[in-house]
Amino acid sequence: IWKELEESYRKILTVPSFNAWIEQAKPISLIDGQLTIEVPSTLHKEYWEKNLSTKIVETGFKLTGEEITPIFIIQNEQISQQLVEPREEFIIPELTRENSRKALLNPKYTFDTFVIGKGNQMAHAAALVVAEDPGSTYNPLFFYGGVGLGKTHLMHAIGHQMLLNNPNAKVKYVSSETFANDFINSIQNRTSENFRQEYRNVDLLLVDDIQFFADKEGTQEEFFHTFNSLYNDGRQIVLTSDRLPNEIPKLQERLVSRFAWGLSVDITPPDLETRIAILRKKADAERLEIPDDTLSYIAGQIDSNIRELEGALVRVQAYATMNSQDITTSLAADSLKTLRPIGQKNQLSILTIQEEVCDYYHIQLKDLKGKKRVKTIVLPRQIAMYLSRELTDNSLPKIGAEFGGKDHTTVIHSHEKIQQLIENDPSIQKEVGEIKNRLIS
Ligand code: ADP
Ligand code: MG
Repeated sequence: IWKELEESYRKILTVPSFNAWIEQAKPISLIDGQLTIEVPSTLHKEYWEKNLSTKIVETGFKLTGEEITPIFIIQNEQISQQLVEPREEFIIPELTRENSRKALLNPKYTFDTFVIGKGNQMAHAAALVVAEDPGSTYNPLFFYGGVGLGKTHLMHAIGHQMLLNNPNAKVKYVSSETFANDFINSIQNRTSENFRQEYRNVDLLLVDDIQFFADKEGTQEEFFHTFNSLYNDGRQIVLTSDRLPNEIPKLQERLVSRFAWGLSVDITPPDLETRIAILRKKADAERLEIPDDTLSYIAGQIDSNIRELEGALVRVQAYATMNSQDITTSLAADSLKTLRPIGQKNQLSILTIQEEVCDYYHIQLKDLKGKKRVKTIVLPRQIAMYLSRELTDNSLPKIGAEFGGKDHTTVIHSHEKIQQLIENDPSIQKEVGEIKNRLIS
């Protein structure tokens, strides 16, 4: 019965939908007319119950002549990842292509290229619901999580999929900075009417990284009205941020509460298996020949950020090309050797950092840890504190103590100061970068 069901779902669902709902579900048993199906999350369960279970009853009756009742249970031990088999290419209509371009969507960020795994399963499922049925289920849909985990990718995928289903849909993707700039320009150029037309006359509005709305009063005000207008018209809104709305400093309460009307889903770092699957998919897409153990090795070196994971693959590839060699584990090890291996964060000591900084600036350790207020000492001291905070897991008071018993607020202050300098002063940026490189290589 499950095979039969799969076949009939394959006919009625789009490929990404099939991957999200059917491939992630597992039939467990059929006892006394009760078909138990295991699904990954409550979101999957609700979707099955609401949209997919009539098919089970229908097909079940057709095959057995009996009434089959589906029961959904949620996996507690999440299966991490099911590799999706390559499918025959399907043709994307020209109009869809053109409108995806116009909407500024990255052609590579589709559901097709997105690897589903623990950490993003729920976000992926929610993205799909919204893409297939915009404006009616989760509005707004809010993704949050650390950098390089796929928020922007999923957001673009929603746009692509919606245009695939309806090439005439109006989709608009912007970063929160672009929204803010467009708004400010519209005031300066007295083109507010155009601005409104452009932002309120869409079926899907994607606004990326809204944590940058913090501190922008006027922009928030305008976004509030844009949001209301779209929401009232039943248009879909998708937002991303590095944290939950209520954790974004200076985000107006009324925006926070509106964002809570829909669904917020977090994306967490991928586990090893998912990282391997992502690398495999990338390698296949680029037609690179890489042995499995080498992919595992690379995936084992980079444990948090998918962008860095991709960067590592590029690096290995470049290294292989340069040396005209095949990609093997030892070649990968060579080319990644300057990257900091996992866990080394703990091993780097404050003293090592202090010594390296002293060496770099030709000053004495006792001065670095002392109280002298001359500029030639103060700056290195602050840099050393900054690096201790960035590169070790030591607490602020502990770092303060290692610098001749300074208060933890001094450490915070130094850290902020250097951070600002790095952003604004290229020579400091270079110096800190060089010290850091010495420390982690
Ligand atoms: P974020 O917006 O969360 O910072 P991005 O969406 O920009 O992250 O993702 C960073 C990179 O990692 C992109 O190149 C993206 O294609 C890739 N990526 C992220 N998640 C996945 C995934 N699940 N499968 C395949 N590629 C992914
Ligand atoms: Mg992003």
